[in-house]
Amino acid sequence: MKHDFYLFNTAGRVKELFRAAHNEVGMYCCGPTVYNYAHIGNLRTYIFEDVLKRTLQALGYKVRHVVNITDVGHLTSDEDSGDDKMEKGAIREGKSVWDIAAFYTKRFQDDLKALNITDPTRWPKATAHIDQMISMISDLERKGFTYRTNDGIYFDTTRFPSYCDFAGLDPETLRAGERVEMGEKRAVTDFALWKFSPSDKKRQMEWESPWGVGFPGWHIECSAMSAEYLPLPIDIHCGGADHIRVHHTNEIAQSEAASGKKFVNYWVHGEFLVIDKGKMAKSGENFVTLEVLKKKGFSALSYRMFCYTAHYRNPLSFSWDSLSAAENALVNLRKAVPQQDSSEHVENDVIETILTPFFNAVCDDLNMPRAMAALWDILKNGSLSLMQKRVAAERADTILGLDLTQRAADAYTYSSDDEKRIVVYSLRELDTGVCDGIFEKVRLRRAARANKDFAGADRLRNELVNLGLTVKDLPDGTTEITFSS
Ligand code: AMP
Ligand code: ZN
Repeated sequence: MKHDFYLFNTAGRVKELFRAAHNEVGMYCCGPTVYNYAHIGNLRTYIFEDVLKRTLQALGYKVRHVVNITDVGHLTSDEDSGDDKMEKGAIREGKSVWDIAAFYTKRFQDDLKALNITDPTRWPKATAHIDQMISMISDLERKGFTYRTNDGIYFDTTRFPSYCDFAGLDPETLRAGERVEMGEKRAVTDFALWKFSPSDKKRQMEWESPWGVGFPGWHIECSAMSAEYLPLPIDIHCGGADHIRVHHTNEIAQSEAASGKKFVNYWVHGEFLVIDKGKMAKSGENFVTLEVLKKKGFSALSYRMFCYTAHYRNPLSFSWDSLSAAENALVNLRKAVPQQDSSEHVENDVIETILTPFFNAVCDDLNMPRAMAALWDILKNGSLSLMQKRVAAERADTILGLDLTQRAADAYTYSSDDEKRIVVYSLRELDTGVCDGIFEKVRLRRAARANKDFAGADRLRNELVNLGLTVKDLPDGTTEITFSS
């Protein structure tokens, strides 16, 4: 498919035409620190990154996608103070750091699956790449970019003159910050490449190095792992907007100082999910996980749909009401996709023309609110055939990842004795035996209501809810059952 693809590049702060530097587009996304569940704010970032990757693939690019797992070295402040989040998580749960890392990595990957986020080409773990980090720090040392303090090896940012450019930092303001206690660090922007293990307590994760026993700094992890799996310059590097000022600024300094080459061509950052006007943070109280969302009866894909209500570079405010509205919109969208009808052949050119407004929106820096409106226009367009609409929706869904057609095909409709429909969505989650039981309960519930046995009707509804189902009574008498996957 031919389309110019424009992306807003944080470096330079303008929308730019995307041009790949390599046959296979290299895409690096900063992964989770696996000391706790991912919250739905983190997941918003991975959803927008998935849309970006799917768009590249729809445009015909091969993508080599790397998402790291930070399982050591991320301190409670993004700078160089505080505890290691992983070691803190282990104490909180009374488990080993390794168990904590394995547990939350698996949970994170399960969340991504539920959200239809496609697997990256590589999932490198920081703890499996210590040698590469030591080797990069040694390079930096040889080139004169490091110095030693009593607690580690630091990157000397004064040796990297463009340090402030990427984030537009003001050196004056930074110098004012130098009054803050910073140990033997020479400049406030300098950061740890290697930290020594404390002499008074034993860490669970530590390694030998040319400088002493210790562990890597958080920033060197991404520089070393991206260099291991992607050629420079990396085409696209993504993350949340919080990473611009410190983490990505430091990644650029290390990677460019070590390699002498440009690190990244396009930097793409997503804005935060906010709740009650504050950023959703793993350390904060306003922390909602996908698990919580599912327990309240929402499907994971309703959250994906909700994320399309704002542009990825705008903050998105979370509320249960707006999630509910997104869930309804998703149910309606699936209903609007016509069922399969193999009798009509649909030409590819025709579909591409129909989808032009959709792709124009997606290729304009991933404008998903506009893309969703364009898809609705297609499904409501009276001059298109049912099959044209269905194939267009299928094609759009390769980017949206909302199971638009598969779900419609999964919808199992049953006309009951009273001629009112029962529609069960997402049958693939259930076996037929369970389904028959569901129809029976819906029938009994209807009978109970007809007999004004409201207590009995409520009891049957609860039995359905306890099976993990959401029950909705539509105005036309249809009972709609959704499996909350
Ligand atoms: P972490 O596991 O904290 O290192 O974060 C994983 C990813 O989620 C990073 O790209 C962060 O920038 C991003 N992130 C953190 N908080 C939020 C939020 N409230 N909304 C959107 N993205 C976030
Ligand atoms: Zn990173």
